[in-house]
Amino acid sequence: IKTLSGKVAIVTGGSRGIGAAIALRLAESGADIAITYASRADSAEAVAQQIRAAGQRALAIKADSADAAAVRSAVDQAAAAFGRLDILVNNAGIFTGGTVEQVTLEDFDHIIAANLRGAFVASQAAAAHMGEGGRIVSIGSNLVGRVGRAGIGLYVMSKAALTGLSQAMARDLGPRGITVNIVHPGPTDTDMNPATTERADQARAAMAIPKYGEPGQIAGLVAWLASPEAQYATGGTYTIDGGTNA
Ligand code: NDP
Repeated sequence: IKTLSGKVAIVTGGSRGIGAAIALRLAESGADIAITYASRADSAEAVAQQIRAAGQRALAIKADSADAAAVRSAVDQAAAAFGRLDILVNNAGIFTGGTVEQVTLEDFDHIIAANLRGAFVASQAAAAHMGEGGRIVSIGSNLVGRVGRAGIGLYVMSKAALTGLSQAMARDLGPRGITVNIVHPGPTDTDMNPATTERADQARAAMAIPKYGEPGQIAGLVAWLASPEAQYATGGTYTIDGGTNA
């Protein structure tokens, strides 16, 4: 059923991986979709074509999440092009590895800008366009629930902060009937985290069901949170990780 008919969504980092799967899934549910990307214009255009093939309007906008003006302008452009804005998915994210002895202050500032500040700016801009029934869903990480290994501190920090922001925004925007939630995926097969490496074997060994996640599975949960049925679900953290943190 097209539960999102007549709705408009913007998905940051929608040109590949989990974001592309979310964009397509929301389109299949009947929403018109804007996606942002950092540099891969052809991947973004390919996703936009798939959205159009699914019968929805699509717009691909280059907007580095670390660039607040670009993010704000992308959100405004999407709302202007499609005449409204109902759903924001804060998916764009980067991974910077290294222990506390190895990473630099520049690494710290960059990951906060890309993973946290970008989501904050997008949420602020999107909320200004949303009415009753608006939806904000962010993509965190199951590592927030259990760090488990060395060398991922900056990434975990950025996602933990995003979790706090998401819960707090649920309180701020609740009176307007806008829900705000965060999804915490475990290892999911994308360019960022391919299922074929030695690290992937270790990740599988830590799961209750030792199978890597697929982007479409994460997209299914996001699509539910974005649906009208999920009105009662707000301020939540939703782990989807094959039981890694169980
Ligand atoms: P990918 O690296 O496969 O794809 C990243 C997407 O985000 C691309 O569309 C990319 O655009 C875009 N992007 C990257 N940096 C920026 C930026 N600075 N500004 C705007 N867009 C940007 O990542 P995944 O699909 O694996 O990850 C998506 C989200 O899920 C991230 O937030 C990640 O942290 C999170 N996550 C992923 C997990 C995994 O195992 N894969 C597990 C838990 C969380 P372009 O194509 O132009 O480069």
